[in-house]
Amino acid sequence: AEIKEEKGLLKKDAEVVWHAMKPFSPNSTIIAEKADGAWVTDHEGNRYLDAMAGLWCVNAGYGRKELAEAAYEQLKEMSYFPLSQSHTPAIKLAEKLNEMLGGGYVFFFSNSGSEANETAFKIVRQYYKQKGEHERYKIISRYRGYHGNTMATLAATGQAQRKYKYEPLAPGFIHVAPPDMYRQPEDETLASTKLQSVQDIDKVMTWELSETVAAVIMEPIITGGGVIMPPENYMKGVKEVCEKHGALLISDEVINGFGRTGEPFGFMNYEVSPDIITMAKGITSAYLPLSATAVKKEIYDYFKGTEEYDYFRHVNTFGGNPAACALALKNLEIMEDEKLYERSKTAGDALKRTLLQKLQHHPYVGDVRGKGLLIGIELVEDKATKEPLAVEYVNKIISGCKEKGVLIGKNGATVAGYNNIITLAPPLNITDSDITFLIDTLTEQMNQL
Ligand code: PLP
Repeated sequence: AEIKEEKGLLKKDAEVVWHAMKPFSPNSTIIAEKADGAWVTDHEGNRYLDAMAGLWCVNAGYGRKELAEAAYEQLKEMSYFPLSQSHTPAIKLAEKLNEMLGGGYVFFFSNSGSEANETAFKIVRQYYKQKGEHERYKIISRYRGYHGNTMATLAATGQAQRKYKYEPLAPGFIHVAPPDMYRQPEDETLASTKLQSVQDIDKVMTWELSETVAAVIMEPIITGGGVIMPPENYMKGVKEVCEKHGALLISDEVINGFGRTGEPFGFMNYEVSPDIITMAKGITSAYLPLSATAVKKEIYDYFKGTEEYDYFRHVNTFGGNPAACALALKNLEIMEDEKLYERSKTAGDALKRTLLQKLQHHPYVGDVRGKGLLIGIELVEDKATKEPLAVEYVNKIISGCKEKGVLIGKNGATVAGYNNIITLAPPLNITDSDITFLIDTLTEQMNQL
């Protein structure tokens, strides 16, 4: 009777829970009940290797009792106090993050990646007003990037198919094409500002009028748009162009951060020092909601003026919840102690290398790419024309993997409606044997196409 009741959960779920998107695996929902390491168990006892770490976020892996305990201890001690005042866990976490970033930042805490980016946009706009540069309000972002679900972060997002039903969104957002080393390879030996993709941003800033452009927001590596690799010196070039036009650079580290790309933060792969850094997901390995907007102190100093409205009028009731901060601190400690950033780099390199060996001659595999444990496999109908593979085939691979106990992602939108890029972003502590299981399962499914 209990099993019958459990089976009824799927029906109940369909009746009362509104899901954000179609499940990764077509026509099926996993009702998760337990999780440990890189593995999730559903309500019927089926086990799945979660090669997407939830939504690219369970960086330290599932089932860490120390994280639950860190939150529990904090909740018993002091469960909540607003950050319009302060509390110790937030101060300690800000100090820890600053140490990771090399110092010089001030942190505004929120609960989600969207809020971290929305906060960044408001800070940028107010900053220029207080500096006396009243015309600077435009934010430049890239097509195919995703920055969140609110009216402004969705406006910054460059994926029309996610946006058009909600338009008009927030005004003042301009999009440029992202570089794409698979579809439009660029000569990486060129000086950064000579890259075509960097020159394109330079031109857009000029055409928009430099003095109206406030910031560029970018993920170091586009993730949700299909793990799109830039030329190695692209981000550096974007920073140089921002400086030339007097605009700020915001690095969206919501997925790139906390070891996903093999470094503590994604921008650290690219020799730049962003003015603002937004982070969420991996900051708590998604055990509790938390995000942060790290802002260079020189910017923050403009909010300390003497006028009545010089301060940042932006309240976030739950932002920087003490239990979430305490948990984040423990999470960062674990990731350092277990060397999970390095693990992401070495395991990611090995995973990419083996996938390349096994799949590069596959007729539908156009590209295998990524950094650290952030990997994209772009599937194409034809390797010469690079026409995206139809989504039915991609879905077949995904549901085949799920049947064999492996959850992988898909993404894309090279052309609206295509989701021709398989994504892998497992927990950073995924074991070698689980990586082998992932590779074997995925290649087996691909070979059955
Ligand atoms: N920025 C990036 C790069 C993301 O991938 C996401 C979410 O996937 C967000 C921002 C928004 O984060 P959240 O879903 O926590 O609001």
